[in-house]
Amino acid sequence: MSFDRTATPARSDTSGFRAVRTTVDAPVQGTGSHGGANSRAVDELVARVWGFDSFRPMQREAIDASLAGRDALIVLATGSGKSLCYQAPALLRPGLTAVVSPLISLMKDQVAGLEENGVRAAMLSSAQDPDERRAVRAKLAAGDVKLLFVSPERLVLDGFFDELLALGLGTLVVDEAHCISHWGHDFRPEYRRLGELRVRAPHVPIQAFTATATPRVQDDVVRELGLVDPVRLVGSFDRPNLTYRLRPRGDLVAQVLEVLARHRREDGGERAAEAGIVYCLRRRDVDELAAELVRRGVDCVPYHAGLTPEERERNQDRFVNDEVPLVVATVAFGMGIDRSDVRFVIHASLPKGIEQYSQETGRAGRDGLPAECVMFFSTADFVTWRSLVEKSAAEEPDAAGDVDGQIERLAEMLRFASGARCRHRVLVEHFGETWTGAERCGACDVCLDELARVPDATVVAQKILSCVVRVGQRYGAAHVADVLRGSKSERIRAAGHDQLSTHGLLAAHSMREVRHWIDQLIGNELLSVDSGEFPTLRLTRDGVAVLRGERQTVLFALPAALKKSERAAARGPVEGAADEGLFERLRTLRRELARQRGVPPYLIFNDRTLAAMASAKPTTPEALATIPGVGEKKLVDPGPAFLAEIARHVASGTT
Ligand code: ADP
Ligand code: ZN
Repeated sequence: MSFDRTATPARSDTSGFRAVRTTVDAPVQGTGSHGGANSRAVDELVARVWGFDSFRPMQREAIDASLAGRDALIVLATGSGKSLCYQAPALLRPGLTAVVSPLISLMKDQVAGLEENGVRAAMLSSAQDPDERRAVRAKLAAGDVKLLFVSPERLVLDGFFDELLALGLGTLVVDEAHCISHWGHDFRPEYRRLGELRVRAPHVPIQAFTATATPRVQDDVVRELGLVDPVRLVGSFDRPNLTYRLRPRGDLVAQVLEVLARHRREDGGERAAEAGIVYCLRRRDVDELAAELVRRGVDCVPYHAGLTPEERERNQDRFVNDEVPLVVATVAFGMGIDRSDVRFVIHASLPKGIEQYSQETGRAGRDGLPAECVMFFSTADFVTWRSLVEKSAAEEPDAAGDVDGQIERLAEMLRFASGARCRHRVLVEHFGETWTGAERCGACDVCLDELARVPDATVVAQKILSCVVRVGQRYGAAHVADVLRGSKSERIRAAGHDQLSTHGLLAAHSMREVRHWIDQLIGNELLSVDSGEFPTLRLTRDGVAVLRGERQTVLFALPAALKKSERAAARGPVEGAADEGLFERLRTLRRELARQRGVPPYLIFNDRTLAAMASAKPTTPEALATIPGVGEKKLVDPGPAFLAEIARHVASGTT
C-alpha cells in the first residue's frame, strides 16, 4: 500500500545534532527544576500573572532553560503555548527581553495581551509613526519595559543592535525562527542579520521558537543564529484536540452547510455560530461559495488577494473581533491570525501538500478545546493543481522550482486524503515523528469508524479496473463511471461502449459512489491519471495485480452525513458541562469590553476560560481566581464585570 511509503522529510546529518526527536538534549543545570526555590517562583508567577495552574508539555523545560541562561531551540506545535515560555522568564530574568517577530499584527496582539495581564511590554516597528516610537523609547530609557517586540526590518537598521545592548538587553527571543532558513517555507532575509548579534554580544542567550521545522530547518536555525550547546525541545506535532475528516466532495454547499450546522450553538440566539474558516482553491471559488452561503443566510465574509487592501483588512478585522463567525478564503488568509477560538477549518478542495494542510488546519483550536477539520476533495483537484504547476513551469521555467517535487507532494496529499490510516498518525509520521498514541486515536474519521469498508472491495475494484482496460485506457473518470453505471448517452453509444462487457456492471450504485471508488483506486495507486489534453485513467503495476487476482484491496463506502449529536469527539480537555446560555452571555460581555478597549476579544479571556466560568459559575472574587486564565490583574479588571454577569444569570434562574 502506498501509505506505508509516505516519505518523511529529508534529514541533514551535517550538524552533529541528533536527528531524532528529543525532549531535552542536554541536562538543564542551575535551575531548581525539581522543586527548588526557582521552581516555586515560576509557579507563583505563572499563577499570579496568567492564572494558569499547570504547565503544558515542555513549557516548564523551556522556562528552566531560559532561566539558566542557556541558548535554546524550541519547536512546539501551534497552540501549545510558546508565548508563556519566553514571557514568564522575561519577568524573572534581569534586563530587557527583546522578541523578534515577523508579523506586526501578532506583535500588537502580544503586547495588548500582556498589558491585559498587567505586564509592561512594548513594540518597535516601522509601521509606527515617529511620535509613537519616541514614546516607546522614553519608556525603554526609563526601564519601564520588560518585553520589547521588534519587527525584522528594525534589525537591519544601523545602530539598532547597539541601542538594544545599551538598553541592557538580557535575552534575545527569535519567534518564527524557521524564517531564517532557506529550507523553511517562509524565508526572511532580514532574519539572517540576527547571527551578528551573537558575535557582537556572545553573553546574551538566544532562544529560538518555531511551530514548523523539519530537522533540516532546525539545524539551519542553530547554525545561522550561532546557538551554543542549545537546549533542544521538540514537542509532538500531534494536535490531539483536532478531529480530522476527509471526504469526497459532492454537493459542496450542502456539505459545508452540514458542517456549519454542527457548529451552531444551542441557544440559537444572536451570534449563535462558532468561528470557522473555509479554504478554497481559487479566488473565484471563494467569491462563489461566499455569495451562495450569504444567500442561504450564513453570516460570512470573503478573503483573497483580489480584494482591495481595505476590504481585506476590514474582513480580517471583523473576523478577529468576533463580529463575523466565518471567513471563506484562499490560503492567503491566515498569516497573522491569532484568534484562538476557531472551532472548525473546512478545506473545499485538496491543499497543495501535507505541510500546507497541517498549517491551515493548525489554525483551529489553538485554545486547546476540541475543534474539527473537514476536507472535501476530489481527484479533479489533483488534476487542476497539477496542470497549474505544469503550466507555470512551462511559462516560467526559471521560477518554477522543483516541479516533480511539487507533484509528488500533491500525490502524497491525495493518498493521505483517499487512504484510510489514522489521520493523526499519518500527520505526525510525515514530520518524522514516531506515533506513540493509541491504535485508535478517537479523533479522526478512520478511527471513529465513519468510513465503512465495502465488503467485496476487490471484486468492485476489478470491475472498475477492467472497465478502464476495456475503454483502452484513453478515458477519464467521468466516462468510466458512466460506462460502469450503464449510461446510454450519445457519447457512450458513439464510442460503442454500451457494447462492452463492463457496461452497467455497477448500475446499482450511485454516480457519487462509483466516482468515490475510482478516487480511492487512484489514491491507492492502482490507477494513475495521465494528463494529456484530457486526464485519462491508466492501470499501474499494482492495478494489474489486483485485476489478475494476485492482490486484494480495500475500498470504503461513502460516509453518511453526521448528525449533530455525533459532532467532534476530539480528545480535548474535558471541561465540566458548561451552561450554554451563560457562556453566550459571557461572550457577549467579552465582545462589548473588547470593543471598548480596542483589543480582540480573545485577549480579554479565551473561550476556555469562559467555558470554565460557565460551568463553575463563580460568584466571589476568590472563586473567580481559581478559574484558569484569571490572573491577578484580570481579577481586578475586568473580573468584576464577569462576576456581575454570572450573578445576574444565576439570579434570573435560567440555569
Ligand atoms: P502558540 O504561540 O504556541 O501558538 P500561545 O502561546 O498563543 O500558543 O498559547 C495558546 C493558548 O494557550 C493561549 O490561549 C494561552 O493563553 C493558552 N495557554 C498557554 N499556556 C497555558 C497553560 N499553561 N495553561 C492554560 N492555558 C495556557
Ligand atoms: Zn485516528
